[in-house]
Amino acid sequence: MKNRKLLMIPGPIEFTPEVMRAMGMPTASHVAPNFVDCMGQALERMREVFLCPGGQPFIVAGSGTMAMDMAACNVIEPGDNVLVVNTGYFSDRFGAIMERYGARVTYVKATTIGDMPSLDEVEAEIGKADYKGLVVTHVDTSTAVRADIKGLGGLCRKHGILSIVDGVCSVAGEELRQEEWGVDIALTACQKAIGVPPGLALLVASPKAIETFKNRSTPVGNYYSDWANWLPVMESYEARKAAYFGTPAVNLVWALNVSLGQILAEGMDNRFARHRLMSDAFKAAMNAIGLKQIPVSADKAANTLTAPYFPEGVNGSVLPLIAKAGAILAGGLHAEIKEKYFRVGHMGVVNASDILATVGAIESGFAKAGYKFEHGAGLAAAQIVLLK
Ligand code: PMP
Repeated sequence: MKNRKLLMIPGPIEFTPEVMRAMGMPTASHVAPNFVDCMGQALERMREVFLCPGGQPFIVAGSGTMAMDMAACNVIEPGDNVLVVNTGYFSDRFGAIMERYGARVTYVKATTIGDMPSLDEVEAEIGKADYKGLVVTHVDTSTAVRADIKGLGGLCRKHGILSIVDGVCSVAGEELRQEEWGVDIALTACQKAIGVPPGLALLVASPKAIETFKNRSTPVGNYYSDWANWLPVMESYEARKAAYFGTPAVNLVWALNVSLGQILAEGMDNRFARHRLMSDAFKAAMNAIGLKQIPVSADKAANTLTAPYFPEGVNGSVLPLIAKAGAILAGGLHAEIKEKYFRVGHMGVVNASDILATVGAIESGFAKAGYKFEHGAGLAAAQIVLLK
């Protein structure tokens, strides 16, 4: 399609025609039987997508930050110790939210941008205080660093600590097995790998997280996010009965249910594998044209996005050239290196053609910006991975 541009930022992303059609359906009453069914089914599907059969799902209007806020305010009380495994911008944000609700926050941080604190370092810190919760960003969108959630979940289980995972840039793209890996709260927003235009905060809480909430000795310091308001509503819709606390985002929920259905039709394991393949192909292309990435090693790099450094002599002014060639990309976000890198999202419905088109647009932009590289080397490298 002439002038068509791919939206290859780390959210919002490209959405399927079926999801966009659902957005345009006539808005029903939030107590209409067809909406009650849709909301009930979306809640059931959330458990399957988060791989948390015993969890309590929440679907609430808001963005990812709202989901972080909801997690923090419901299970943390003033004076609780919280450990933040810090990988960048969004880990800082989660720490600030925890502090806002009165937590005493300790950060364990890698010394190098693009690295992760080791499990041993985290466990050593756990031994120093009576931690109630551990917070980690699964994929830090500012650095494309992916944390070892399975390992951290295991540590939390061993030490009886609540594990809270910001999966905004991971859920439904990156492998995350909430129940098996011992994650107590996994949260996301709908505009990334979930595949729905922005506006929904999504969260699944383990029985332990719900029990922690029910055993609070202080009231929740946030009226809108209080699970005392939302839990009966979610339970009611799942039992196919309407309930009200705040008006649900009806059209977004239509779209969410369609998208969750598409995700489950693909199958979670197939979906994780496709994200790995798209990421491998894209990263191979960046290596082939000489661009280094922020994550210090491949095992710490996300599959949902890539964060390459600009090469010598190129800066952010290349991004409009790449957009003109057909792919809209994002600039840097991590304050210390903001001007030195860019970010490319490849999640959700992304396919091989999108990857090749994006690599082609990047080669075109870099060539126009005067960067010297072997033209076509990135495309060839991506294609070799895709054809394996
Ligand atoms: N956490 C992560 C890892 C994110 O990528 C984002 C959004 N980019 C957020 C939290 C915040 O989500 P939102 O912008 O939807 O509030």
